[in-house]
Amino acid sequence: MTPANQARQLVEVDSIEIHVLVNDEIDLISPSPNPLVEHTQSFAGVPLSPVPDPAARGGAKLEMPMRNICCGAHGLSLFITATKDSVSKTLLFDAGPEEEVFERNATRLRLPMGDVGAIALSHWHRDHSGGLLSAIRLINSKKADGSQVVVALPPDRPDYRGVMFDAPVSLEPDPSLLEIENAGGKIETVHNACTVLDDMFFISGDIPRETSYEGGIPSGIRYSAQTGRWTTDELIMEERYVMCKIKDKGLVIFTGCSHAGLINIARNAREVGSSPIHSIVGGYHLADASPEKMENSMRDLMELEPSLLMPGHCTGWRFKGLIEKEMPGRMAPIFGGIKYSL
Ligand SMILES: [Zn+2]
Ligand SMILES: [Zn+2]
Repeated sequence: MTPANQARQLVEVDSIEIHVLVNDEIDLISPSPNPLVEHTQSFAGVPLSPVPDPAARGGAKLEMPMRNICCGAHGLSLFITATKDSVSKTLLFDAGPEEEVFERNATRLRLPMGDVGAIALSHWHRDHSGGLLSAIRLINSKKADGSQVVVALPPDRPDYRGVMFDAPVSLEPDPSLLEIENAGGKIETVHNACTVLDDMFFISGDIPRETSYEGGIPSGIRYSAQTGRWTTDELIMEERYVMCKIKDKGLVIFTGCSHAGLINIARNAREVGSSPIHSIVGGYHLADASPEKMENSMRDLMELEPSLLMPGHCTGWRFKGLIEKEMPGRMAPIFGGIKYSL
């Protein structure tokens, strides 16, 4: 990791490919509505398997078994490959909610896991960290040189996170640092912004919270084993975003859950990246937003003039509907199992 107060050293890449390994929704059929992104459609990305006895099937040699189709799950994991001058680097952004989901989808998609040079975790929430140990083991097992994958983690892992209703409701714990090390991960804690993988990927530091209407998770809490107490934790201050820059196109911003706020993230990315925003890919976390928050977010999003919007995970159908209404044709929502080329 190279420290980066600004993203000046972020290398401009020629192209980016995004395989969506885990996402809440799947849609293997729809075409791309925005010419700035190409993606597989009409089941084209689903791997085919050989038919054992083609003669009994009228000569069909290949079939598309349902077990080859990627499954949806609440969470996010993106397998991102950036290429410059024929050199490619791959970063895994988040790992989805469960080990079984990660393994199942990685196997079904037949992705070259050994190519992953680094994993970046957006924040400490189980729907992003639950598959992390599986991801580390799978990646390391495919590395011919026996090297260990770098795992870039946000600081300040809570013992538990949860939400306060009448009483606290806890999430499962995120993998501990010891578990991550024991799985074979080479931990690098991202205290400040940095670049990784030959400066092709930027990982942010703390994201300034500047808008008046993006306040994190209402009633969010964290538990400390040391104090034995749950305390308020709505802002998820350790959240990080990942960013690339495509030559002649601009910034590609990857958001995990956008607890920091979609607009806070996009504004910070544009400021540190000093370039126009090409696209915003990932969770926008507006599924449960009030109409006022959605309207404010939409207004400020339009002012940022992104060329392409690729919402997924926790964005919610209401905000996706609003984008399509206000910025028709600009959005290509992400779906599990699909490969997107920018
Ligand atoms: Zn979250
Ligand atoms: Zn999430």
